[in-house]
Amino acid sequence: MNRIYFDNNATTPLAPEVFDAMCPYMVEDFGNASSIHWYGQRAKAGMEKAREQVAKLLNARASEIVFTSGGTESDNAAILGIVEASRAAHKHVVTTAIEHPAVLSTAKALERRGVSVTFLPPGAGGVIDPLDVAAAIRPETVLISVMHANNELGTIQPLEEIGRIAQERDIYFHADAVQSAGKIPVDVHKLGVDLLSLSAHKLNGPKGVGALYVRKGTILRTLMHGGHHERDRRPGTENVAGIVGLGAAAEAARANLEDECGRVAGMRDRLEAGILSRVRYVAVNGDRVHRVPNTTNLTFGYIEGEGFVIAMDLRGIACSTGSACSSGSLEPSHVLTAIGLKPEKARASIRFSLGRFNSVEDVEAALEIVPAVLEQLRALSPHYKAPAMTDKQ
Ligand SMILES: *Cc1c(COP(=O)(O)O)cnc(C)c1O
Repeated sequence: MNRIYFDNNATTPLAPEVFDAMCPYMVEDFGNASSIHWYGQRAKAGMEKAREQVAKLLNARASEIVFTSGGTESDNAAILGIVEASRAAHKHVVTTAIEHPAVLSTAKALERRGVSVTFLPPGAGGVIDPLDVAAAIRPETVLISVMHANNELGTIQPLEEIGRIAQERDIYFHADAVQSAGKIPVDVHKLGVDLLSLSAHKLNGPKGVGALYVRKGTILRTLMHGGHHERDRRPGTENVAGIVGLGAAAEAARANLEDECGRVAGMRDRLEAGILSRVRYVAVNGDRVHRVPNTTNLTFGYIEGEGFVIAMDLRGIACSTGSACSSGSLEPSHVLTAIGLKPEKARASIRFSLGRFNSVEDVEAALEIVPAVLEQLRALSPHYKAPAMTDKQ
């Protein structure tokens, strides 16, 4: 069967040039980057090149990049690191109701430790209003954490405006840019962030490695205790091959950004428009203008999302309900309910997320399969009335 992968927001395939860059570091260049001999220097050189490559993707300095085990660790390190470094008696954090669990659960863990947290709701389009951020700030606010692009909807948040507010009030600002880095320009100075998370496996790099941008002068408490790696900001022997892979992925994403942005948006729009014109009872979720180029989230009437994903999978197309992290749970997506969808609508929503290795042929094939799968599933629904034959012509 010809298989099509439309779940790039869950993870992406490893790019061949990334694999090639990593290989030597798993074989001959196996050294510990902290060792002073030749082996150590080779590993260190690979890692420092990667630091430059990641910094360049973000318009940051190499010295401001800390390598981590992925997006989840970067988010934890930023949020817990800022809050724990603050000596204030009362602390408050501003974040949003639509964050990835890596931020949301960290914020909830802080609440259990007595930190106050405001979870701002988005508007109906899934966009956070910067005025709401400004209004939520208290004298004891130590951190604002707002994601750049939402993983379920693809909506892009107005980080520049929020960054200006944070700077004016002298409050640290963290952004989870895991779903934007490599898809749209991410410039830490333009966005006004002090901390920014990214993950290699969301940009055609390997799993289990990521980075945290830490603006020079930012005071962070480390999560873990150990050796003096990463300038005392993240202990533990570095995952050199993974870091080299992240660097190569960042470099490729930067080089291809403009072309890929247009190409992927063209495919996504063709898929979305094709579905909207071929099937009934379908609605697009989230702001369609302020959106990363690869994502569309659709609610289909008279189906159940999990059943749709399974039926699509049987025909060789991988898509998803909401996010990979919440699949398997019966809870409707917290993102979709936050933008006002009723639980049954949230459960009938499907995310298609495209990527570098998709083609227009994939989209055309999907446009044949989606209406057929919907008809098949809807025929089982007691509430659905199939359109009359004449209606369909
Ligand atoms: C995938 C994802 C993460 C987690 O990254 P991992 O590297 O898988 O830990 C965090 N935030 C967002 C928005 C994501 O999409």
